[in-house]
Amino acid sequence: MAAPVRVRFAPSPTGHLHVGGARTALFNWLFARHHRGAFVLRIEDTDSSRSTDENIVAIVDALGWLGLDWDEGPPTAGYRQTERFAIYREHAQRLLTAGRAYYCDCPPELLDRERAAAQQRKETFRYSGRCRDRGLTAGALRLRIPTEGATVVNDLIHGSVTFEHSQLDDWILVRTDGTPTYNFCVVVDDVTMRITHVIRGDDHLSNTPKQILCYEALDYAVPEFAHVSLIMGKDHSRLSKRHGATSVQAFRDAGIPPDALVNYLARLGWSHGDQEVFSRAELVELFDIKNVATSAAVFDSTKLEWLSQHYLKTMEGPKLAELAEPFVRAAGLAPPEDRARFIRMLDTLRERAKTLVELVEQGRFYFERPTAYEPKAAHKLLTVEGARRLGLMTERLEAASEFTVAGIEPIVRALTEELGLKLVDLAQLARLAVTGRTASPPIFDVLALIGRDESLARLRRAREVAERSA
Ligand code: GLU
Repeated sequence: MAAPVRVRFAPSPTGHLHVGGARTALFNWLFARHHRGAFVLRIEDTDSSRSTDENIVAIVDALGWLGLDWDEGPPTAGYRQTERFAIYREHAQRLLTAGRAYYCDCPPELLDRERAAAQQRKETFRYSGRCRDRGLTAGALRLRIPTEGATVVNDLIHGSVTFEHSQLDDWILVRTDGTPTYNFCVVVDDVTMRITHVIRGDDHLSNTPKQILCYEALDYAVPEFAHVSLIMGKDHSRLSKRHGATSVQAFRDAGIPPDALVNYLARLGWSHGDQEVFSRAELVELFDIKNVATSAAVFDSTKLEWLSQHYLKTMEGPKLAELAEPFVRAAGLAPPEDRARFIRMLDTLRERAKTLVELVEQGRFYFERPTAYEPKAAHKLLTVEGARRLGLMTERLEAASEFTVAGIEPIVRALTEELGLKLVDLAQLARLAVTGRTASPPIFDVLALIGRDESLARLRRAREVAERSA
């Protein structure tokens, strides 16, 4: 039986989690869950000048929000590269002892000159191998790579990609100051964490032959590789801030439900027929790394919003309430204490909103009395006649035996007939009075949810305004 699947997501905490990284994390997570393997989170923080603890917190937070739980990783110690220097040193020593690595004392000026000369010849710079057989005992530690032949990366997405050794060089494992290089840390981490499949962005494809040569030098089995294409903006350039929101945090703040973002990211470069909507369980069941596209995926915010709207429309009421509550509070409002009533309010709003921010904005009137009326509608409706109608509506509704849709709708309908009007005439007036706007969920639902006292207070207030302006 094959070894159990172990994959990892290895962000560098030099910024927040962006959609590209989130998708890489998601593909790893789906692969692990599909194969009932382990998902490891490793923090690649060796670049101490750009890594911050604040970014680690933000990344961990974003992964948690997306529901991508890891089986191993922080806060357990040993999953940050800065905690692992002894392990890198030990592996460097092994390579040195086995003759697979050697010290090089070429001064930086010499290497710079050689680099400049290569540039002039329009070649990529490769270290000459000058120190290979000098038997030095100090300096930068370089990997001795075979001078002939080639290394083939058998990528699960891209197929085989061949790299001639004549195009590679004896790269540095440990710098003169004793710090291990990025490629070396990644290899040592992946072997010691027993990673079976390396799924990462295809900007790392060119590092892979170097890393494979290091696995071989350490006499370790080489894992499988899958390099996922980059995400582009609509203009087909690499997705960046210019294209609008790109961090997971920004989508969370915009009120995209996490399941919608997960669904969207899964479909970004991966497909299963032409199905667009997937539950998490379906994604886990159907995800196959082989179905990930080789070409770059284009980020389409319209489609993300479409999915967001779909999730808002279809998720369970209590779940929607849980997601909406922080947005209500962030808008400086408070949801009603009666949870069932809050859920019914959200039910009247969920059809129309693309995000939770929009949903709360459209439903503001449920949580606070309108402070203003739409000017055009106020001018048209809050007139002498409007005041009279509002007065009558208030009077009749006060007498309603119960303030439910069934209790109030017949009363307003009867008044409509009595006044020789259309229902819309009174409905628009009531809507403006109660919500301050001319568009809202069905007015009788709104009145019932706002409740007797508050609805009547708002109708009275509108009547006063109408009288005053007349
Ligand atoms: N730390 C690297 C990055 O954030 C990932 C390296 C890898 O997955 O091997 O791009």
